[in-house]
Amino acid sequence: MKRPPHTFDAWRLVRDRGVLEGTFAVAAGPRLAERVAADAGPVAWRIEGTTDGAGRPALAISIDGNVPVECQRCLGPLVLTVARRTVTLLAKSERDADALDADSDDEVLVADHPLDANELVEDELLLTLPFAPMHDEGRCGTGDG
Ligand SMILES: [Zn+2]
Repeated sequence: MKRPPHTFDAWRLVRDRGVLEGTFAVAAGPRLAERVAADAGPVAWRIEGTTDGAGRPALAISIDGNVPVECQRCLGPLVLTVARRTVTLLAKSERDADALDADSDDEVLVADHPLDANELVEDELLLTLPFAPMHDEGRCGTGDG
Protein backbone atom coordinates (compact mmCIF):
# COMPACT_ATOMS: atom_id res chain seq x y z
CA MET A 1 0.00 0.00 0.00
CA LYS A 2 1.37 3.37 -0.97
CA ARG A 3 1.46 6.11 1.61
CA PRO A 4 -0.38 9.25 0.66
CA PRO A 5 2.06 12.13 0.28
CA HIS A 6 2.00 14.92 2.83
CA THR A 7 3.22 17.80 0.71
CA PHE A 8 3.68 21.40 1.77
CA ASP A 9 5.19 24.66 0.57
CA ALA A 10 8.41 25.09 2.57
CA TRP A 11 8.74 28.80 1.78
CA ARG A 12 5.24 29.56 2.99
CA LEU A 13 5.84 27.53 6.15
CA VAL A 14 8.91 29.69 6.86
CA ARG A 15 7.08 32.93 6.06
CA ASP A 16 4.18 31.99 8.34
CA ARG A 17 6.48 30.48 11.00
CA GLY A 18 4.15 27.55 10.62
CA VAL A 19 4.32 24.14 12.24
CA LEU A 20 3.30 20.81 10.73
CA GLU A 21 2.91 17.73 12.88
CA GLY A 22 2.10 14.14 12.19
CA THR A 23 3.12 10.55 12.61
CA PHE A 24 5.19 8.39 10.32
CA ALA A 25 4.64 4.64 10.03
CA VAL A 26 8.26 3.51 10.14
CA ALA A 27 7.71 -0.02 8.83
CA ALA A 28 5.82 1.38 5.83
CA GLY A 29 8.74 3.54 4.72
CA PRO A 30 9.93 2.00 1.46
CA ARG A 31 13.60 2.66 2.24
CA LEU A 32 13.34 1.89 5.96
CA ALA A 33 11.29 -1.30 5.96
CA GLU A 34 14.28 -3.64 5.74
CA ARG A 35 16.14 -1.89 8.55
CA VAL A 36 13.41 -2.01 11.19
CA ALA A 37 11.27 -4.68 12.81
CA ALA A 38 8.08 -5.48 10.93
CA ASP A 39 5.98 -4.42 13.92
CA ALA A 40 7.64 -1.00 14.20
CA GLY A 41 5.02 1.52 15.16
CA PRO A 42 4.73 5.16 14.22
CA VAL A 43 7.09 7.92 15.34
CA ALA A 44 5.93 11.48 15.90
CA TRP A 45 7.37 14.25 13.74
CA ARG A 46 7.20 18.00 13.69
CA ILE A 47 8.41 20.39 10.99
CA GLU A 48 8.75 24.09 11.85
CA GLY A 49 9.32 26.95 9.48
CA THR A 50 12.20 28.95 10.97
CA THR A 51 15.47 30.70 10.18
CA ASP A 52 19.04 29.94 11.13
CA GLY A 53 21.26 32.26 13.16
CA ALA A 54 21.97 34.33 10.05
CA GLY A 55 18.28 34.76 9.22
CA ARG A 56 18.28 32.30 6.34
CA PRO A 57 15.09 30.30 5.72
CA ALA A 58 15.23 26.86 7.28
CA LEU A 59 13.13 23.95 8.44
CA ALA A 60 13.56 22.45 11.90
CA ILE A 61 12.66 18.77 11.66
CA SER A 62 12.03 16.92 14.93
CA ILE A 63 11.42 13.20 15.31
CA ASP A 64 10.51 11.43 18.54
CA GLY A 65 9.70 7.81 19.07
CA ASN A 66 10.88 4.28 19.64
CA VAL A 67 12.00 2.20 16.70
CA PRO A 68 12.28 -1.57 17.18
CA VAL A 69 15.12 -3.14 15.20
CA GLU A 70 17.07 -6.41 15.24
CA CYS A 71 20.40 -6.55 17.06
CA GLN A 72 23.05 -7.41 14.48
CA ARG A 73 25.05 -9.45 17.02
CA CYS A 74 22.41 -11.70 18.62
CA LEU A 75 19.49 -11.05 16.25
CA GLY A 76 17.33 -10.34 19.30
CA PRO A 77 14.95 -7.43 19.51
CA LEU A 78 16.34 -4.03 20.36
CA VAL A 79 14.47 -0.75 20.71
CA LEU A 80 16.20 2.42 19.59
CA THR A 81 14.97 5.70 21.02
CA VAL A 82 14.96 8.47 18.47
CA ALA A 83 14.88 12.06 19.70
CA ARG A 84 16.36 14.20 16.99
CA ARG A 85 15.98 17.81 15.90
CA THR A 86 17.75 18.94 12.75
CA VAL A 87 17.85 22.34 11.14
CA THR A 88 17.98 22.20 7.35
CA LEU A 89 18.56 25.32 5.27
CA LEU A 90 16.34 25.90 2.27
CA ALA A 91 17.76 26.62 -1.17
CA LYS A 92 15.85 27.86 -4.20
CA SER A 93 18.04 25.96 -6.69
CA GLU A 94 21.00 23.59 -6.88
CA ARG A 95 23.31 26.58 -7.38
CA ASP A 96 21.85 28.25 -4.33
CA ALA A 97 22.39 24.99 -2.43
CA ASP A 98 26.06 24.82 -3.37
CA ALA A 99 26.61 28.36 -2.11
CA LEU A 100 24.81 27.64 1.17
CA ASP A 101 26.69 24.39 1.58
CA ALA A 102 30.02 26.17 1.32
CA ASP A 103 28.88 28.69 3.88
CA SER A 104 27.17 26.60 6.54
CA ASP A 105 27.55 23.36 8.47
CA ASP A 106 23.82 22.71 8.34
CA GLU A 107 22.20 20.41 5.85
CA VAL A 108 20.81 22.11 2.76
CA LEU A 109 17.64 21.12 0.96
CA VAL A 110 16.61 22.29 -2.50
CA ALA A 111 12.97 23.34 -2.16
CA ASP A 112 12.13 24.22 -5.76
CA HIS A 113 9.00 22.06 -5.55
CA PRO A 114 6.51 21.18 -2.81
CA LEU A 115 8.20 18.99 -0.20
CA ASP A 116 6.77 15.76 1.16
CA ALA A 117 6.91 15.58 4.95
CA ASN A 118 6.98 11.77 4.87
CA GLU A 119 10.07 11.81 2.67
CA LEU A 120 11.85 14.34 4.87
CA VAL A 121 11.11 12.28 7.96
CA GLU A 122 12.24 9.09 6.26
CA ASP A 123 15.49 10.80 5.16
CA GLU A 124 16.14 11.93 8.72
CA LEU A 125 15.48 8.47 10.11
CA LEU A 126 17.82 6.89 7.55
CA LEU A 127 20.56 9.26 8.73
CA THR A 128 19.77 8.63 12.40
CA LEU A 129 19.43 4.87 12.60
CA PRO A 130 22.72 2.95 12.80
CA PHE A 131 23.40 0.56 9.92
CA ALA A 132 24.30 -2.21 12.34
CA PRO A 133 22.36 -1.61 15.56
CA MET A 134 23.55 -3.71 18.51
CA HIS A 135 22.84 -4.13 22.19
CA ASP A 136 25.43 -2.56 24.45
CA GLU A 137 28.49 -4.72 25.02
CA GLY A 138 27.55 -7.71 27.20
CA ARG A 139 23.80 -7.00 27.07
CA CYS A 140 22.89 -9.40 24.29
CA GLY A 141 20.38 -11.99 25.40
CA THR A 142 19.63 -10.30 28.72
CA GLY A 143 16.28 -9.04 27.53
CA ASP A 144 17.31 -5.43 28.07
CA GLY A 145 16.78 -3.01 25.25
ZN1 LIG B 1 22.14 -8.31 20.92
